[in-house]
Amino acid sequence: MTLALTDVTVRYGDTAAVDDVSLELEPGQVLAVLGPSGCGKSTLLRAVAGLEPLSAGAIAWDGADLAGVPTHKRGFALMFQDGQLFGHLSVARNVAYALRIRRTPSARVAARVRELLALVGLRGYGDRLPGTLSGGERQRVALARALAVEPRLILLDEPLSALDATLRERLAGDLRSILHDAGTTALLVTHDHEEAFALADRLAVMRAGRVVQAGAIDEVWREPVDEDTALFLGYARVLREDAAARVLSAAGLPPAYAVALRRSALVVDPAGAVRATVESARVTPEQVRLVVVADGIGEVDAVAPLGSRLSPGDAVALHVDVTRLAVLPITAEG
Ligand code: ADP
Repeated sequence: MTLALTDVTVRYGDTAAVDDVSLELEPGQVLAVLGPSGCGKSTLLRAVAGLEPLSAGAIAWDGADLAGVPTHKRGFALMFQDGQLFGHLSVARNVAYALRIRRTPSARVAARVRELLALVGLRGYGDRLPGTLSGGERQRVALARALAVEPRLILLDEPLSALDATLRERLAGDLRSILHDAGTTALLVTHDHEEAFALADRLAVMRAGRVVQAGAIDEVWREPVDEDTALFLGYARVLREDAAARVLSAAGLPPAYAVALRRSALVVDPAGAVRATVESARVTPEQVRLVVVADGIGEVDAVAPLGSRLSPGDAVALHVDVTRLAVLPITAEG
């Protein structure tokens, strides 16, 4: 085991920003802590970094308690949203910064910087100043700098959130393969499920200071513990009771109290068992997105193949795609 958090609590006055959190992270794994703004994820990250004292619980590395170990002795690297590069230093100097502080010989520094810039896809960028780079390039430099000292753990605070959507998607794929190629163990915090899915192997969903669910990404995705978690993971709607039973029976599944649907869980199909009336239709590059009112279900989202000519008021039949829904367990509220 590498990193282990046991019953970690961080209080600010009377409120617990992090409340009794236990998590484990194996070597080479990327764990994303996913939660809405204010849920305590940055506080958790800072606690792991040693920048926030614990009110209770323990953080250990390979079984050794980190309580008395200051930030710079933990062997962890931090990378923030905006990269925080030194604007007056070249890319190469930024990447080399921590190596120089450690008095690494210059030939070794130069070789390591070349290697790292190649790793992050920025070969030949060494002499550029950060101000002349795009947002994505700056984040890559920040990553190279964080990896320079071969940290045993890298802590990432929403590393892609400052980037625009296209760039974010591209860099997410790159970042994932860079972390895997370098064999880096990483703890990522984010409010963006896309960022979590793009980068991590494992997911811990956090709400109001607590971890409400943790597991492999596909497991958590397939079986969210409750409605809030499902919606936060990107499911479009949660249906309950009769509406849920109707969708599940059309999908050939046993009834349950609630079901979470992705926007594409209901698909227009003349052979489908669910009858509905189109409320609105919007063409996207991949498909036609519909909002429909379905018999016995009510208003839901649905999709139709591109080229379908559907207008409000049209009657359609829908089939339920079982891979795009999650059956939710009965919750306390339920
Ligand atoms: P997140 O990163 O999920 O947005 P934070 O960890 O930043 O959440 O904050 C969790 C909670 O703790 C919030 O209610 C926030 O207002 C509070 N908080 C964070 N830092 C401090 C601080 N230094 N002093 C007091 N309260 C804080």
